[in-house]
Amino acid sequence: MLSNDFQALDELRPLAEKCPRCSLCKFPPLVRVEDAASSGVCPSYEEFKVHASSGGGLLVMALSLLDGRSEVTETFRRLVYGCHACGACDVSCKFSSDIEVQETLLHLRARVLSERGPLPGHAAVLDAIARFGHPLPAKPTPLGEALTALDLPRRRGAPVLVWVGPHFALDPDRHATLRRSIALLERGGLRVTTLGADEPYVGRAALEIGDRHLFRRLAIDAARAIDASGAERVVCLSAEDYATLRADVPRVASLRTRVEHVVEAYDALLAAGRLVAGRRVERSVTWHDSSYLGRLSEPYLAWRGVVRKVSGQIEVHDPPRPVRRGGGGCYEPPRRVLARIPGLRLVEMPRRREYAFDSGESGQVEAALPDFASATASRRVAEAERTGADLLATECPQGHRVLTTAAADRGGRITVTSLTDRLGESVEGVAS
Ligand code: SF4
Ligand code: SF4
Repeated sequence: MLSNDFQALDELRPLAEKCPRCSLCKFPPLVRVEDAASSGVCPSYEEFKVHASSGGGLLVMALSLLDGRSEVTETFRRLVYGCHACGACDVSCKFSSDIEVQETLLHLRARVLSERGPLPGHAAVLDAIARFGHPLPAKPTPLGEALTALDLPRRRGAPVLVWVGPHFALDPDRHATLRRSIALLERGGLRVTTLGADEPYVGRAALEIGDRHLFRRLAIDAARAIDASGAERVVCLSAEDYATLRADVPRVASLRTRVEHVVEAYDALLAAGRLVAGRRVERSVTWHDSSYLGRLSEPYLAWRGVVRKVSGQIEVHDPPRPVRRGGGGCYEPPRRVLARIPGLRLVEMPRRREYAFDSGESGQVEAALPDFASATASRRVAEAERTGADLLATECPQGHRVLTTAAADRGGRITVTSLTDRLGESVEGVAS
């Protein structure tokens, strides 16, 4: 009996062996390519220009390792982590296949970690999780202490639990946006609460580095904390936490509470007329679909079944195996929210929705290979600049930070902004 819950690298071998080296994982499907400058979808292939730095190349490496033809050398380890784990290759590959590229990349990382240990930057991240309860070694403050200092609402019995996350809690530059999010939700009539010092880290960095035991422990703690709050809904401010709680935590822990991202909550409040964007914001904006808010947040689809051969050679899954193809991410709510802000004009980037180019924040690349993360962010900003928009909007705290740095390094032709901040500017009574 086979399952969609792959527990180890060798369980992915039958799917990886289907790869015909077509290289479609390096590009969006041809029908989705709008200009030559935006014809690649894989940040690592754009940067390193070798097949090993692509979804297909990493599948070859995984098979070679499983077959004993390769071992985990330093070069091997650097290639495996020189990838954003952004899932773009997975979505492009699945345009015409059911190969689980992203699953394979993450399990390959777990294998590499167990055989050769973490890269120095990742060792610091794992150490920060152990010491401070969050993955940010540059912020040596315990997560609970940072959350307590924010003095956010604590209301017993409130139906909406706002999940802050370490990237908001520990970055003073994001605190105004964090408070604006809560103000907007309250302005819309929601009775919200937070967990304060009791909010744990959901563990994304452990999953991405490959410490799956640590991820399981953190995910179970997070799921318990959410369910124990008694809230009906958990509204995540961070895209990374949203993706992890929606797509990854349910694979290792029972989570009964509905998970939303804050842009979905804004969208519902605006549609119901409980929040009104009245002030004009005379700007043009392009929206960055972060990998976390987009394709990586598509919920996990459980399946158990068998493989049968038909016509002597064609393999089919029985019953048919549901496959995550990236279209189930959060794409429409942010666009609807932006469209409701009077005066604001949305101009789309060529690579968007499930084929969006990563902005450099995902996959723990920044911690280990910061120059590569910066180059990815710069490529995304260049794409945004080509739209002619004044603003590049995102709702991902890490993405906001790396894109802001890249935009400044490129001469400040476009301003990186948060959707929350622009909505706050338009809603009467919420400080901009
Ligand atoms: S991983 Fe998928 S898209 Fe990439 S080479 Fe293999 S089959 Fe083609
Ligand atoms: S996960 Fe992203 S960076 Fe890594 S190989 Fe796939 S598309 Fe490239």
